[in-house]
Amino acid sequence: MAAEHYDVVVIGGGIHGAGAAQAAAAAGHSVLLIERTALASGTSSRSSKLIHGGLRYLESARFGLVRESLREREILLRIAPDLVHRVPFFIPVYDHSRRPPWMIRAGLGLYAVLGGLARQARFATLPRAHWSGLDGLDTRGLRAVFRYEDAQTDDALLTQAVMRSAQQLGAELRCPANFLSAKRSGDVFVVHFLERGAERVCRARTLVNAAGAWANTVLERVTPRPPLVPVDLVQGAHILVGAQTRQGVYYVEAPRDGRAVFVMPWKKHTLVGTTETAYDGDPAAVHALPQEIDYLQETLRHYFPAQRAPLLDSFAGLRVLPHGPGPAFRRSRETILHPDQRERARLVTVYGGKLTGYRATAAKVMRLLQKTLPERAPRADTSSLRLSP
Ligand SMILES: Cc1cc2nc3c(=O)[nH]c(=O)nc-3n(C[C@H](O)[C@H](O)[C@H](O)COP(=O)(O)OP(=O)(O)OC[C@H]3O[C@@H](n4cnc5c(N)ncnc54)[C@H](O)[C@@H]3O)c2cc1C
Repeated sequence: MAAEHYDVVVIGGGIHGAGAAQAAAAAGHSVLLIERTALASGTSSRSSKLIHGGLRYLESARFGLVRESLREREILLRIAPDLVHRVPFFIPVYDHSRRPPWMIRAGLGLYAVLGGLARQARFATLPRAHWSGLDGLDTRGLRAVFRYEDAQTDDALLTQAVMRSAQQLGAELRCPANFLSAKRSGDVFVVHFLERGAERVCRARTLVNAAGAWANTVLERVTPRPPLVPVDLVQGAHILVGAQTRQGVYYVEAPRDGRAVFVMPWKKHTLVGTTETAYDGDPAAVHALPQEIDYLQETLRHYFPAQRAPLLDSFAGLRVLPHGPGPAFRRSRETILHPDQRERARLVTVYGGKLTGYRATAAKVMRLLQKTLPERAPRADTSSLRLSP
């Protein structure tokens, strides 16, 4: 039997793989996505679950990233109202805070401008009389509380919804199925993968490597071997505690090192994250370390001193950052799209990126592959396709 032939084969069923499959299917292409374990089993279920512009990226002047993310946030709020919802964010500023009120005010002003100055982009300071309603936030030494809006989602459900949308547009999903190798033969790649104990073969005009922390392992299995981008894996841990946070997301500075930490409502409990710890083990084995759990519990108790709720769970995900010196939080958070060739890409690797920007990332991947792919009649526009849980 002849091997099946696809325009696009996507490796990895996280948000970027699902997004690429959806964009390719929407553009009219035949698509196969191969996921080794389960959809969103990697970083796409271990994020902070925020659909946001990323206020702190303003400190490193990543205005383009923030603007694009804010635009994507608005699109997702529109097309996925059951999966993405607005949530108030509070930034308390204390006598001891590293960032003074004027700096927060300037940052939020810029954030509002980049968000198009819509009503929802505006921010305010919370009157002192409302401080006591903030889930037990410590008011000693509190100088101001800023309130603005961003959005929250369920990252795993969002990934599954995007993949379902891709399938409705004709994409095929093989899961669990482990990508083994791809070999260039003339105009196609011959792709081997393992499914239910049997080795299968298909042909692909183009490949999208969306294997997240495993991206370079995937590239090592491609012949001829394409160039790799050297990356560092940096884990980010979260803890789930058994208390309810009702008012919104608190954006605080960790007392130990001033890093930004979120204290968030999550399924009637409270999620606190994240950390930044260099990682060089097996990506599948990443988990929150005892010292990370301590750091997050210490941060939570520092701002919510009455908080004594039990630890329910902890988890960690891996950031994929360009290799380099210095702390992770100074490193670029822009998605790196790495084509195998500049002129006529046949293979694009997605490194890093944001859950929030998956649709914009997928559109850029498709643009890179455009010259290699045949013209097809588009089936849909992903900016208006409804996503449901
Ligand atoms: C701690 C943390 C917090 C974050 N918080 C946010 C946030 O709040 N908002 C936001 O917008 N972004 C956030 N991000 C970024 C975002 O979560 C990630 O960029 C995104 O989830 C990465 O998705 P991905 O599809 O590239 O990788 P993954 O989700 O890791 O998917 C890769 C997939 O490839 C599969 N795979 C690997 N090898 C093979 C193989 N050989 N064959 C088949 N399949 C294979 C894996 O099983 C996995 O499912 C956060 C990231 C981290 C680490």
